[in-house]
Amino acid sequence: MRSTTGWQADGSTGALRRVSIPRRDLRRDDVAVRVDHCGVCHSDLHALRAHRGGDAPALVPGHEFTGVVTETGPDVTRFRVGDPVAVGNIVDSCGECAMCAAGQENFCRDFPTLTYGGADRHDGSTTLGGYSREYVLRDRFAYPLPAGLDPAAAAPLMCAGITVWEPLRALGVGPGTRVAVSGLGGLGHLAVKFAAALGAEVAVVTRSADRADEAARLGAHDLVVSTDPDRMAAARDRFDVLIDTIPVPHDLGPYLGLVAVDGTLSHLGHLGTVTVEAMDLLVGRKKLSSSGSGGRPATAAMLDFCAAHGITADVEVLPSARVAEALERLERNDVRHRFVLDLSDLS
Ligand SMILES: [Zn+2]
Ligand SMILES: [Zn+2]
Repeated sequence: MRSTTGWQADGSTGALRRVSIPRRDLRRDDVAVRVDHCGVCHSDLHALRAHRGGDAPALVPGHEFTGVVTETGPDVTRFRVGDPVAVGNIVDSCGECAMCAAGQENFCRDFPTLTYGGADRHDGSTTLGGYSREYVLRDRFAYPLPAGLDPAAAAPLMCAGITVWEPLRALGVGPGTRVAVSGLGGLGHLAVKFAAALGAEVAVVTRSADRADEAARLGAHDLVVSTDPDRMAAARDRFDVLIDTIPVPHDLGPYLGLVAVDGTLSHLGHLGTVTVEAMDLLVGRKKLSSSGSGGRPATAAMLDFCAAHGITADVEVLPSARVAEALERLERNDVRHRFVLDLSDLS
């Protein structure tokens, strides 16, 4: 066993404390990564909330990070020491099921091993995430970080980015597709950038009209104000694809109303029970879909696309010692558009 420093949740209060955490010695196909930047995801908030007061296993959040390879196992051929890499929210999968064979490791029948709060497939230990200075993982789930992408701003591509990229591609978004994006947080702002770069006609659906400039800056062509009944009515049945990234429970009815005949609402931001009126789907043969993370081929393709189009997240970088502030501000939606922790203060 080796060790590193990370931010681990205190079992009773849920507050993150800087502690020494274990990392495994490298297996034959492992790489060790010095974590330089890690995004702060809504899932981290949920995990910390769920962890509070319980006697659950140790929790170190963080599942979208970039860094540099510092050591490789003897069987690793894809990476060398010094290579910049990116890691997302999956660090292993069974590799044998139909989903893994199809490059959809995110849907592995045996459930993928999550970057934190997962169970290691060899020793059963609980995985500890990227709010730490070092991570050890199977090389298959590390991705070369393309040159030209800022490492801090690229970190959120690995969870927020891939979570919107895969459905956009699967739904055939391209030139001429009419896409709406609801929610302008980490996922939403990247969905707007991706859809615009794919050639789609993009609108942002938001509660307040004062985000028009921001939406335009991200590449959106239009804004639909969800609190304005006239503008919602005018946008009825208008979008082939609606990417819903709102991270809290909400009524899908008004959003389904914006979807065109045979169009799809992709519900990505909130993982929980949804209630849908069948009539909201029936009228217009509309489809409701969901998705999360992405397989290895899609993740690699997304990084290539980002390099080709110069796309990264809009980030606010904070030293990791200010993680509590980042979480607290994320909770009240006070971020444009993603916090990224700089882990160099853990050295
Ligand atoms: Zn995430
Ligand atoms: Zn599998």
